[in-house]
Amino acid sequence: MRKRFAKLGVTRLARMVEISRILNSATNLDQVLTHIIKEAATLTNTEAASILLLDPRTRDLFITASSNEIPEHLATTPVPLDSSIAGAILQANRPMYIPDVSQDPRWNKGVDKAIEFQTRSILGVPMRDVDRQPVGVLEAINKKSGEFTRQDAEMLTILADIAGVAVERARLNEDLQQAYAELNDLDQIKTDFISIASHELRTPLSVILGYLSFLREESSPEMMAQFDTVLDAAVHLRTLIQDMLNFQYVDTGRDTLELSQIDLVALVQEMMAERDETAVAKQQTITISLPDTPLPIFADQGVIKVVINNLLDNAIKFTPQGGQISIKLSQHGQEAWVCVNDTGIGIPSEQLDRIFRRFYQVESPLRREHEGLGLGLAIVKELVELHQGRIWVESEEGRGSHFYVALHLDGQAQGPPAGK
Ligand code: ADP
Repeated sequence: MRKRFAKLGVTRLARMVEISRILNSATNLDQVLTHIIKEAATLTNTEAASILLLDPRTRDLFITASSNEIPEHLATTPVPLDSSIAGAILQANRPMYIPDVSQDPRWNKGVDKAIEFQTRSILGVPMRDVDRQPVGVLEAINKKSGEFTRQDAEMLTILADIAGVAVERARLNEDLQQAYAELNDLDQIKTDFISIASHELRTPLSVILGYLSFLREESSPEMMAQFDTVLDAAVHLRTLIQDMLNFQYVDTGRDTLELSQIDLVALVQEMMAERDETAVAKQQTITISLPDTPLPIFADQGVIKVVINNLLDNAIKFTPQGGQISIKLSQHGQEAWVCVNDTGIGIPSEQLDRIFRRFYQVESPLRREHEGLGLGLAIVKELVELHQGRIWVESEEGRGSHFYVALHLDGQAQGPPAGK
């Protein structure tokens, strides 16, 4: 390689470095091909240049780019590997010089005819991928004056080496972009499905709940217990649907928030005014610890309620009969902190980060004792982040958990709005 560079001369070497830089930074396959064609014709001082690439799936060779306009039917017709000049170069995996194509039986006159061009001579080199396997052919066509030189062949070979890798990279990049777009589409379909399904489920469920409550009031004492069981199940279903509905906030982002100044202390006081039926049934005590002064935050009241309710529901759910749960509000510097504590089953330390992922649950789905979709904390985290806040958990397995939410106090400097 050093010998090859020595012969190239400083100007040409500098040009190759520049070409390599441009090709390495290009991500679009068409851009890469157009650039290679232009440089191949300039470097070898020829009338035209063409690139033929192997289809990675069918292994057919196609004219993929050319200085001449290639009609659609030619671009989509495979060039036969066994009876064409490009096919011979590809299969031999080495450069070839054809000084007079009219004397070569492998020459296909049809192409010239279709593009109204007259090919006289061809210098062709294989384009190779990083594993040195041929992926295509680069051809310089019709030297403008004189014959092709050894230096032309060397320049074209180096260019083809750089180009082969650039083509491979551009293709990978395009595949990646396509996979990313498909994933985005799938994600959108999933979100739409959750949103439609939850809306559709809510209406009939409201009817069921309404009639159940009414029938329960009217029922005999013996029937009451049965109605309670059915009502419990229906309420549970409503919670699951609410989790699904909360997705709307997450996927539409900050724009849907109805922000106003609220006092976190007053909000929690109001929320805790009613005793939680499930906690009562499990004989759990819920205590509240509030500061003496208000904690003003600029937030969506409904969303903050969703956050606190989710953490509280989890504390109740994952704490056994007779356990203790507490909610503590406090000021830390420029932030208001909400801490939801329980004396429940706790979370193994290696799972602490994962529980905030969508659909993640510590218990195996097949051996679960607790109900739920595994969506609550993922939604809570995204809702807190929409408010530019933070959420984290401290926990010890078997001893309980402490979930913290930190929100900026209103009037305190905040970072740029969370993008979404
Ligand atoms: P879900 O409660 O519907 O399963 P979440 O996203 O709310 O989903 O919680 C994810 C998982 O995190 C739960 O399945 C549970 O394993 C764990 N977890 C959440 N809160 C607690 C808690 N207070 N104590 C113990 N584990 C918890």
